[in-house]
Amino acid sequence: MDTGTFTSKDLLDKLFDNGILFETGVDGLYGRSGMFEEVIERFERLVTRLGAVDKPTRIHFPPGMNRATLEKSGYMKSFPQLAGCVHSFMGGERDHAKLLGMMDAGQDWTELQQPTELALTPAACYPLYPTVAARGPVPMDGLLFELSSYCFRHEPSQDPARMQLFRMREFVCIGTADHVHAFRQSWLERGKAMVESLELPCELDLANDPFFGRGGKMLANNQRDQGLKFELLIPVSSQEKPTACLSFNYHQDHFGQTWGLKFADGSLCHSACVGFGLERVALALFRHHGPDVNAWPPAVRAVLWDA
Ligand code: ATP
Ligand code: ZN
Ligand code: MG
Repeated sequence: MDTGTFTSKDLLDKLFDNGILFETGVDGLYGRSGMFEEVIERFERLVTRLGAVDKPTRIHFPPGMNRATLEKSGYMKSFPQLAGCVHSFMGGERDHAKLLGMMDAGQDWTELQQPTELALTPAACYPLYPTVAARGPVPMDGLLFELSSYCFRHEPSQDPARMQLFRMREFVCIGTADHVHAFRQSWLERGKAMVESLELPCELDLANDPFFGRGGKMLANNQRDQGLKFELLIPVSSQEKPTACLSFNYHQDHFGQTWGLKFADGSLCHSACVGFGLERVALALFRHHGPDVNAWPPAVRAVLWDA
């Protein structure tokens, strides 16, 4: 795709014109072409291959999670603006007639829905921690998981790299502070080398999460000061503001404390996760190497298709 100056909306229109993404009428909610999906599948295989040396346990959670788990994890304190909960109609015949009447009259009928036990998963690792805690003490040499999930975040945008429903692949390490640090360091290096092998320009940078409200500013500053989050940035929809395609997070003992993740001697576990934004990586590949995957540089094709 043309690498001159353009806006994120221009890139989105190009993706629609080339039949790579399909409109739904909602910003951030798109259909994907078979080729887009194939690129994601190939990239996921590459990630899995790179991580296989450490023998992670693979778990695939669905895009919805236990709402009580999301509540207990503190998500509503930090990111209430991004969360989505699933609601459903649970009334009887009379309520149903009322609902249809309200719909016909163009009124807001959603008040007739009630919250279910489900929330949409905001990041692939949230459902993991209580699952691990329920299995008893963590071995001293730690645990490693490979996860994949569709995720939801309410951040509607015309930037194709900022979707409302997107997939994340994650490695999550639970262990001592030293262990999870070493895990994160190794992925900072492996992740950068992997993206470079795909001939994508990238740079690592210190980052922070979009914590909500005035108190959030302080949390974001703390996160930066303590070096808790790094991102691997690739220009996708903007040259000046590159997009976070991989992120490397150290949670200290936050999830250990929240979920009682402990070693047999009673000490708290630390955790870290590495997230791969699958749509963002695919978009970066289409953006830099063009809409036709058959015309991508041979070395890039070799990494994704021949290995
Ligand atoms: P950003 O700063 O751009 O909002 P983030 O820091 O919130 O990204 P994380 O919370 O670290 O992202 O999520 C892990 C990975 O998921 C990111 O590295 C990114 O690749 C991907 N991701 C996050 N938000 C979106 C989104 N709205 N659309 C597509 N991919 C996303
Ligand atoms: Zn995570
Ligand atoms: Mg974000």
